Amino acid sequence: MRCTSEIDVRDVDESCINIDPIQVGGRLTADAMKAVIAYGDGYSVCDHCRKPFRLDFIQKPPIQQFHKELAAFVNMDEARVVPGARRGFQAVAGTYVQKGDPVLITALSHYTEVLAVENNGGIIREIPADDGKTITTDSAAETIETVSREFCRPPVLLFLDHFDYQYGNEHDVRGIIRVARQHDIPVVYNGAYTVGIMEVDGKGLGADFVVGSGHKSMAAPAPSGMLAATTERAAEVFRTTEARTDLTGRTFGIKEVEMMGCTLMGVTLVGMMASFPHVRERVKHWDEHLSRGRKVVESLERIVGTRIQSEMPRNHTLTRVDTIQSFDKVANTHKKKGFFFSSELKARGIAGIIPGATKVWKFNTYGLSAAQSDYLAETFLGIAEKYGLDIQ
Ligand SMILES: *Cc1c(COP(=O)(O)O)cnc(C)c1O
Repeated sequence: MRCTSEIDVRDVDESCINIDPIQVGGRLTADAMKAVIAYGDGYSVCDHCRKPFRLDFIQKPPIQQFHKELAAFVNMDEARVVPGARRGFQAVAGTYVQKGDPVLITALSHYTEVLAVENNGGIIREIPADDGKTITTDSAAETIETVSREFCRPPVLLFLDHFDYQYGNEHDVRGIIRVARQHDIPVVYNGAYTVGIMEVDGKGLGADFVVGSGHKSMAAPAPSGMLAATTERAAEVFRTTEARTDLTGRTFGIKEVEMMGCTLMGVTLVGMMASFPHVRERVKHWDEHLSRGRKVVESLERIVGTRIQSEMPRNHTLTRVDTIQSFDKVANTHKKKGFFFSSELKARGIAGIIPGATKVWKFNTYGLSAAQSDYLAETFLGIAEKYGLDIQ
């Protein structure tokens, strides 16, 4: 099947069990798919845009209401939709970071945080991870002290990933935010791997900002995401234009500078909105997704030589595993080399693991049904058995 003569149809999630770490939380709901078709045209949400001409005021479809619900969803005061979590980081960095300013991230931070800081001339300092690949409150406190001494002032911003993209480990956001607040450092809670799959309480954690990714964790089309803020911070990051052009003397009302006026003007926003009722419901069932994921991890651990590199027990469905002493040993003598593993998985209907990877790889079981996760667990064992690996 094809979309056009050049573009194949994509049916990974229809024909396979997909465990691609970055894709599973972004799969569209059926409602979002309908919205995608209806709102695919450019500027489609602008049909009923009236004064004061801003996206988050549109009432039909109920975009204004959606913004209120988004803020409440992560327990913050204000929210805006943005084209990806990274654009949320960019808006915050654009507000607080100037050339030469120190900005804290962590040793496990996502690259988009680095780019957001770099874009504004900020200087990155990383909070180190401990041996278990977690960012502790002590480590954060120490780094704040060191960096404050180095720059003779505290960092202007801290980006903190609740669960990191490398290990899916949980970091002590509550403790770290408490320390940051003692130094008056605004904190961006990066919920790329939380907002939309588990409950997030932004103000409860003391965060100044909560960033979420629509296409990673909110069953929305790309690029989409959200940036939420407290009332105090909203006034800064969502400041409106004050520009007046010199020749024509034009002004631009209440367009927000960091949002470039309007952000998601069609399919992305309406897709996100259509999935939202499902997303709001599914976060209450995170425990079930987690326990299914843990079962898959247990089965992998039974394959002798396999090492789970992520923290144990797992607190996220994204897991990093080291199979150098198991599947990679098979790869060493197999005629397909490392590709034997992905092709065995593919033959069994599993997609989403990097082809050729048999040393260290990641997978995410989020969204699988109980039957699918049981099948996945058995599949890993089955492949191990076929190649004579020992199973405990
Ligand atoms: C995926 C990811 C991002 C980027 O999200 P986008 O919505 O694609 O911009 C940022 N941070 C973390 C931790 C991520 O995993």
